[in-house]
Amino acid sequence: MKKLICGVLVVLMTAVTPVLSAKSNSAKKAGKCEVKNLIYMIGDGMGLAQVSMLLLEGKYLPTAFNRSENIALISTYSANNRVTDSAAAGTALASGHKTDNGMLGQEPDGTPCVSIMERAGKEGYQTGLVVTVYLQHATPGAFYAHVPSRNDLGVISEQFVESGVDVALGGGKKFLAEGEKAGKSLIEALEDKDYKVVYDMDELGSVDKGKVVGLFSDEYMPTVLNGRDPNYLKEATEKALEILSNNCADSKKGFMLMVEGSQIDSEGHANNAAGILEETRDFAQAVGAAMDFADQNPGTLVVVTADHETSGLSITSNKTDFTLSDSGIGYDFGTTGHTGIMVPVYLYGTGAEQINGIMDNTDLPKKLAELMRLK
Ligand SMILES: [Zn+2]
Repeated sequence: MKKLICGVLVVLMTAVTPVLSAKSNSAKKAGKCEVKNLIYMIGDGMGLAQVSMLLLEGKYLPTAFNRSENIALISTYSANNRVTDSAAAGTALASGHKTDNGMLGQEPDGTPCVSIMERAGKEGYQTGLVVTVYLQHATPGAFYAHVPSRNDLGVISEQFVESGVDVALGGGKKFLAEGEKAGKSLIEALEDKDYKVVYDMDELGSVDKGKVVGLFSDEYMPTVLNGRDPNYLKEATEKALEILSNNCADSKKGFMLMVEGSQIDSEGHANNAAGILEETRDFAQAVGAAMDFADQNPGTLVVVTADHETSGLSITSNKTDFTLSDSGIGYDFGTTGHTGIMVPVYLYGTGAEQINGIMDNTDLPKKLAELMRLK
């Protein structure tokens, strides 16, 4: 409701005469609804067809995506390719800068791209990452790392330790255990920086504040079809929100949390319709949890988007005779790679009314930084 009030006040601000100047001033302030908490959710490889499949398979019962209060579309091309990879797209979504495929957190000429998470962290916001891949993977890495190649996992692991991210949950234990700094493993280096390092969700359950890294697998976490708890992303998101909220309870600044539905992409590469459905469902449940949090915590904006679409998924009729009452549905794939189509952005909560229309992926973080009033 708050944002609706803001919307009304913006209209008033432009319509009233100077007689109401005192009111106009307060309206002006309220018109720019400040976002205190940002939950930035990225479905890796999630296009409109993947979201549509979730709806269709759920017999059209509303999903979390249906709760969106505003929508937009973004283009995803990278600096050197009309079809992006996750590193270039992650860099664009994290920092607002285009780069070449394969590069992470830096422009093609090597200039570092500072992410909105890094900016938020410097300004006193709590920061967090929740993924189902390794924490050094392209999408989470784009929020803290700056390397010429997304495959520089050793360097990315070192940069992760130095990133200052307060809560990080996902895989990637192996790269931190193998990494070394001053004769210690990078896991010990994290502990030296007062991180609590946990290795399963039960252990995480006993943590409710402070800096925490959850390392739930050596590299990728399993897909849902290969045994990951189908509620993992929802539960990890809720836990991260609890810890980040507790950490900033006494601060004027809130937090920025990035949540990735990481393996919609890998199931897309495998052209596995059942796998895409399960990964999108887990992600949607996390989106619902984030929206519930926004309901209870005014000042929270939930932004849900994708870095690109994977697999060229289409939902096709099995027959061309449209007079039939049902023709059956086919899930067809155009590629085992990525595609160049625009992807959706779903918005919910404070400031949702401020973002809509068709834009480039680099415009989205710029608008978010503005709403959070980052310097
Ligand atoms: Zn991919």
